[in-house]
Amino acid sequence: MKKALITGITGQDGAYLAKLLIDKGYEVYGAMRRTSNLNLWRLEYLGISEKVKTIDFDLLEQSNILNVIKDIQPDEVYNLAAQSFVGTSFKQPLLTADTDAIGVLRILDALKTFKIDAKFYQASTSEMFGKVQETPQKETTQFYPRSPYGVSKLFAHWMTINYKESYNMFCCSGILFNHESPLRGPEFVTRKVCIKIAQFILGINITPLEIGNMDSKRDWGYAKEYVEGMYLIMQESTPDNFILSTGETHTVREFIEKAFEYVGIKIKWEGKESEEIGINIADGKTLIKVNPEFYRPSEVDLLIGDYTKAKTVLSWEPQTKFEDLVKLMTQAELNRLKNN
Ligand code: NDP
Ligand code: GDP
Repeated sequence: MKKALITGITGQDGAYLAKLLIDKGYEVYGAMRRTSNLNLWRLEYLGISEKVKTIDFDLLEQSNILNVIKDIQPDEVYNLAAQSFVGTSFKQPLLTADTDAIGVLRILDALKTFKIDAKFYQASTSEMFGKVQETPQKETTQFYPRSPYGVSKLFAHWMTINYKESYNMFCCSGILFNHESPLRGPEFVTRKVCIKIAQFILGINITPLEIGNMDSKRDWGYAKEYVEGMYLIMQESTPDNFILSTGETHTVREFIEKAFEYVGIKIKWEGKESEEIGINIADGKTLIKVNPEFYRPSEVDLLIGDYTKAKTVLSWEPQTKFEDLVKLMTQAELNRLKNN
């Protein structure tokens, strides 16, 4: 039985990946930091909370990382833990760097110290492309991160490559474009929109959706499919980096329009920039308004990934495209709220 250590087990990808590996017969160790509340709702949602062996783990604590690695002696380590929200990284840049940059180095160095022959996967991100230097973005595209999150992840990305090249370790990265699901954190724009729409429809909260920059474009895929890509990257005989994306890009505005359309509401836009509002054509009510609080000090305007390498080498291809993702997420919020 192979042993996998997944950091970030309480997060979106940690939960989906744990499910995938358990179904494949792995013994899954889920590394999670101590918080005042046990945060297992995603594992419960997937019905695997009893099947994952949880262990105390914090990316900020070197001795803890060393002990976990030494005790478990994993075959595969998937490092999914991170301060993953770009907005917060502007407000907490040092914490973000300690977690997302140095935290990764702590794991790499622990693996090297104990000479553990584990495969290591790093959760790299399209945010490293930031102010994009080429469209669509490929594995060879030059990086230009635009946030403390992006810069920290880029350090971790290069460290992963450096440990591979310096110490002949199996270290690889997936450069993943935005991937969403009903398990996405509620602060990310897709889930935030879907939660709000479900609240509107069920009459629980009828205040307008407050939103930031609606013109940025993202390449949004379905998280459940992206963790399959992570697994495939780790099954290669030589470590390498791969982009996982859908090859489509859409604005935040389109996401909002499509999600409202799914519940039968057509939106028209009035005003400009911070004065812009979205109105329900049927009754003239304002359903969306811009709140500059959600603007970022520097923005990533456009992301669109070329997943040709993953398709060719791994036979990985995304199945769920934009419209289906919007429907799936909106319906999931409606169900969740009705059931509660
Ligand atoms: P989430 O935010 O859902 O999960 C992040 C996880 O990291 C949580 O389990 C969180 O724990 C944990 N964590 C945070 N800080 C620490 C710490 N100091 N020590 C240990 N654990 C910690 O992220 P996703 O699942 O969406 O993403 C997984 C990874 O992929 C992340 O590294 C993210 O940056 C990266 N990524 C994600 C993309 C996406 O679109 N989802 C795109 C590209 C990359 P807690 O529950 O306690 O907060
Ligand atoms: P990111 O791509 O990792 O930053 O994922 P997010 O879902 O946080 O943001 C995607 C895009 O939506 C970014 O360009 C944000 O600026 C934009 N956006 C607009 N309004 C909001 C909002 O209210 N919340 C969030 N999280 N993002 C918003």
